[in-house]
Amino acid sequence: IRKIAVLTSGGDAPGMNAAVRAVVRTCAYHGVECIGVYRGYEGLIEGDFKPMNARSVRGIINKGGTMLKSARSKEFRTKEGREKAFQNIIKEGIEGLVVIGGDGSFTGALVFNQEFGFPVMGIPGTIDNDIFGTTHTLGFDTALNTVVDAIDKIRDTASSHNRLFFIEVMGRDVGHIALNTGIAGGAEEILIPEEDLGLDRLKESLNRSRKTGKTSSIVVVAEGDKIGKNIFELKEYVDENMEGYDVRVSVLGHMQRGGAPSCFDRVLASRMGVKAVETLLEGETNYMVGLKNNKMELTPLEQAIKGKTKINLELLRVSDIMST
Ligand code: ATP
Repeated sequence: IRKIAVLTSGGDAPGMNAAVRAVVRTCAYHGVECIGVYRGYEGLIEGDFKPMNARSVRGIINKGGTMLKSARSKEFRTKEGREKAFQNIIKEGIEGLVVIGGDGSFTGALVFNQEFGFPVMGIPGTIDNDIFGTTHTLGFDTALNTVVDAIDKIRDTASSHNRLFFIEVMGRDVGHIALNTGIAGGAEEILIPEEDLGLDRLKESLNRSRKTGKTSSIVVVAEGDKIGKNIFELKEYVDENMEGYDVRVSVLGHMQRGGAPSCFDRVLASRMGVKAVETLLEGETNYMVGLKNNKMELTPLEQAIKGKTKINLELLRVSDIMST
């Protein structure tokens, strides 16, 4: 392989830039040319390419978002779209592709490989940490720190006014962000998509913590919590069913996706970039690089796409004990 392309696709995540930098520099280290593709698969179809060298990626390791831009491409879901992308790749002389993104982006890469026999590698970039084959996805750690920071700030105002706050964090299908930040932010309860605690349990737990002398309470709620109520409905429930609570809600939203990547994410991105390029150079294809037992490990893309991540039951128990 003499020329490798790199793109970022799907939702952006902090650490994507650090991963692009790592891919570009690993190529430079091995004397391989590197092409940056703008706007994910959209740019592959339009031939939006830029040759990158070690200096093109200076000053980006600490930047959130992705300098290559990200996109969702409908056209890449069609055979015609992928054919166009392949023609551009051939014209440019690209011989391998590193895709930084989530499971949707990996599905696109796998389909592309199956159609054209083109070598592809995946780097998991998403704040949700919902990808099988790695204990951490890029951006997860940064998002945790951002959310904990926000919870701490909300706690200040909550305790000054004896308020109960419902804080919504990202996580439509998985509760990793809610569970971890809930524990770290000292939440009284944590509502996640994997477990239905039930409203009675919530009520009981809030009353219990009040009886033990707590003056403010924070409940961290994942977007897709299994009780099936959003934070506004939860507020309504408390207003109607519980006495003496001054309830407020806060949706953290897109701020969770931004910001400078944490040290952990920068190091992880660098390791993943090196592993992805070197695996392609060894002639392998259709793998995702991931972190397992603090080692870089490969997982077949197909498994990474289909596999489900599990919530850490030990963390659930810790959160239970902490809220006594
Ligand atoms: P996240 O969900 O974390 O934001 P993602 O990578 O899962 O990231 P998606 O929007 O699901 O985000 O996928 C990104 C792009 O991958 C899509 O816009 C599309 O171009 C491509 N893609 C997804 N699924 C397929 C598929 N079945 N066939 C071809 N391309 C696909």
